[in-house]
Amino acid sequence: MAQAKKALAKNRSKPQVQRHARASVKNFNNYIGGKWVQSESGEVFENINPADTQDVIGRFPLSTAADVNAAVNAAQQAYDGWRNTPAPRRAEILFRLGEILIRNKDRFAADMTREMGKVLKETGGDVQEAIDCTYYTAGEGRRLHGFTTPAEMPDKFAMCVRQPVGLCGLITPWNFPMAIPSWKLIPALVCGNTVVIKPAEDTPLSTYNLVQACEEAGIAPGVVNLVTGYGENAGAAITNHPALRLISFTGSTETGRIVASACAERNAICSLEMGGKNVIIVMDDADIDLAIEGALWGAFGTSGQRCTASSRLVVHKKVYKQFSRKLVERTKALRIGNGADPKTDVGPVINADAVKKIMKYIEIGEQEDGATLACGGKRLTRGEYARGYFIEPTVFTDVAPDMRIAQEEIFGPVTAVIPTKSLDEAVEIANGVRYGLSAAIYTRDVNRAFRAMNDMYTGIFYVNASTIGAEVHLPFGGTKATGNGHREAGTQVLDIFSEWKSIYVDYSGKLQRAQIDTVEGIG
Ligand code: NAD
Repeated sequence: MAQAKKALAKNRSKPQVQRHARASVKNFNNYIGGKWVQSESGEVFENINPADTQDVIGRFPLSTAADVNAAVNAAQQAYDGWRNTPAPRRAEILFRLGEILIRNKDRFAADMTREMGKVLKETGGDVQEAIDCTYYTAGEGRRLHGFTTPAEMPDKFAMCVRQPVGLCGLITPWNFPMAIPSWKLIPALVCGNTVVIKPAEDTPLSTYNLVQACEEAGIAPGVVNLVTGYGENAGAAITNHPALRLISFTGSTETGRIVASACAERNAICSLEMGGKNVIIVMDDADIDLAIEGALWGAFGTSGQRCTASSRLVVHKKVYKQFSRKLVERTKALRIGNGADPKTDVGPVINADAVKKIMKYIEIGEQEDGATLACGGKRLTRGEYARGYFIEPTVFTDVAPDMRIAQEEIFGPVTAVIPTKSLDEAVEIANGVRYGLSAAIYTRDVNRAFRAMNDMYTGIFYVNASTIGAEVHLPFGGTKATGNGHREAGTQVLDIFSEWKSIYVDYSGKLQRAQIDTVEGIG
């Protein structure tokens, strides 16, 4: 019974709220105004290891609007000091943060595997992405370029500079528990904003580690505030807080819509990174073994729980049988287990809700007329799997583009192989979903590669590589139901976290009227 109860703690719809912490489990606090504090209610929720639900990692504050208010007040008090700190000085502190992350990379990766489940080499990559983001973006502290331009009138100077947006609310998902918070936090800080960040309820520890590193780096009290808790209360309180000028959200398209509507009501800036249904196109001239490697990594890395996961494989009929046979063979050989074990290829999925949703989609796939469950499809519940959320990597073949498993984001270790007869048809299938995050093509024909590159309406595109593997110095984001026009990472992220101010300096000593006065001698 105790086991079943703890398992529920990973189930968002049924938070495990504890008023009195048991002594053996560590308690973690919110970080508000430079102090580590409990939630005002004193309530906590448990962070559970998805590979072993008896392993309680810690208890975190179950924050409410009162805690969010306190965090926003702290961010407000720190704002003028931080925005008036020269950007190169802000950046120096961020470089120190980068060093702290490097020193702690292994520990942070181990913590992340324990709370999130993905294998150690992937959590190492997640922390590395935070390090890369920190170094790259801190470099912007000495750039943050604006521009000058000629003015219409004589003796008048025109320029454009970036100014911080103000107080920012950052809401993040559980699948990249340090990388995604860093993508928001670091550019927000370099631009001079102060923040309140709320990590996903399944993975608060990785953001806690990041924020603790910010404190160690010497970021002033109130500049970064951490509030843990559930989306419906702490998340909603952030979204609706009138003093938060910008909400930067990454998560599902459904939640993103709620966040966007709330922001629209109060005229807040809102940047959204949401779901995906990504695709690899495999042409008849492709290096099939390379394409298989890409498909396996894209579909089953992070147990398929990536916004860029390769959940559709559109394969040319001429190589379809060969590709499907090899893919199934290799999928069956993947080792499922605890991500902390170096032999593991595929870790658990995040929580009980995820198991339910993924198993439901597998059932839908089995019922869809024509689709074949080629391998996997079962939840593993015995032996080493008994206390975790393990699902076999699953391949459906003979999938039609309009089937639900080919249209909807499953967010688990499930991929759909769809036959195609031509590049044109493949591109039409590939574009034929509501999302537009990432797409890839495997081909040796440069003309086909460029054709697909031109015709795919996605934010990211790969040639002879999988749908995952973004680098921090290129913009990241998607079209259609994946995003709302913004891009994170690269220098483009600065356009989220700063606003342009156009400045005119008239040194003529007289009134000059733009669009009205004529310039002497020109007419
Ligand atoms: P989610 O939408 O359930 O939760 C995301 C965050 O929003 C969490 O912190 C949650 O607590 C919070 N939240 C939930 N309800 C809220 C509400 N009413 N108001 C304010 N905040 C609320 O998503 P998830 O399950 O954590 O993450 C998986 C989803 O994220 C997938 O759809 C995936 O594709 C997407 N994702 C997208 C990207 C991207 O860059 N496009 C990256 C990673 C994940």
